[in-house]
Amino acid sequence: MIYRVDEDTLRKAAELLCAGELVAVPTETVYGLGGDAFNAGALAKIFDVKKRPRFDPLIVHIAETGTLERLGDLSLLEKANREKAALLTGRFWPGPLTLVLPRRPEVPALVSSGLPTVALRFPSHPAAQKLISYSTGAVAAPSANSFGRLSPTRPEHVEADLGGSIAMILDGGPCRIGVESTVLDLTGELPRILRPGGLPREEIEALIGKTAQTPREGEQGARLSPGMLKSHYAPRTTLILHSGKEMAELPFRQNEAYLFFDRTSMESWLAGVFPAQNLRAGEGIFYLSENGDTVEAAGRFFGILHHVDGLGKTRIHAEEAPPEGLGAAINDRLIRAAA
Ligand code: AMP
Ligand code: MG
Repeated sequence: MIYRVDEDTLRKAAELLCAGELVAVPTETVYGLGGDAFNAGALAKIFDVKKRPRFDPLIVHIAETGTLERLGDLSLLEKANREKAALLTGRFWPGPLTLVLPRRPEVPALVSSGLPTVALRFPSHPAAQKLISYSTGAVAAPSANSFGRLSPTRPEHVEADLGGSIAMILDGGPCRIGVESTVLDLTGELPRILRPGGLPREEIEALIGKTAQTPREGEQGARLSPGMLKSHYAPRTTLILHSGKEMAELPFRQNEAYLFFDRTSMESWLAGVFPAQNLRAGEGIFYLSENGDTVEAAGRFFGILHHVDGLGKTRIHAEEAPPEGLGAAINDRLIRAAA
């Protein structure tokens, strides 16, 4: 059931969390499937409800920077990285940045799939912050979708996928950022982005300097982030990823869907395939951003994919985003959706 966020529903949701139940919680990135991070039973439920393999670790959400020290052990980091952690949390928390740190033994190993580390994030959504602070102060929350499928950016997406198996869905409106957090590992020599996400690499590097390259599946180092699977974020409909040039040359087929990065590229394609007709976006033809803005595109990304996936088309053709800013996060999701 979906409940509008207010003081009563937040208190009720916090009680459920403290009793080991799961609650879907709005955040600024995507909706999370929350469970008490200190309760191994609740953690097991998260994996079961999502059908998520136990080797894919969960992010723990906190509601004040100080809680970091209760869960992560900064003393085990190299000094330079300890300083970077302080800079990063000072500038980007609360917000779409997850830090991977050495895990304290009080945190159940199940959270981290047995890794000696823990991933921590302080979300900026006020409902998430209240829910976390009204409960135990640490809520493990992966995206509230079945494993491998599209992430939810509206409460209705959660209801359609997991509605039958969770105690409560809190409605905090559509997610402002729309893609998952950037996951940054501070336990190595050089900070490494394990997953591009809602905080662009450029902003991180402007603050702390160079980061290591993200390992790809199969490459050495990929095991550092066991959840980074080749196929993920997938619609049910087959998705094919194209460069802008390839996309511009596609023929139109009635039973296929077309997702352009911006309006200009959609319109020049339309002018080419339908010189005499007046076909409009919406009939299986979409763009992510009006003016080629990667922030706007990220915000609309999963919502549009959920919609397109419901149209019953045989294929979705998607145009890659420019690589800068949140374009990196969009392309990461598109590559995995196409895999
Ligand atoms: P999700 O919660 O579904 O957005 O996915 C969280 C992702 O964060 C996982 O799939 C991992 O790739 C990454 N992650 C979480 N915890 C850790 C950790 N301790 N070490 C490395 N990566 C992690
Ligand atoms: Mg997920």
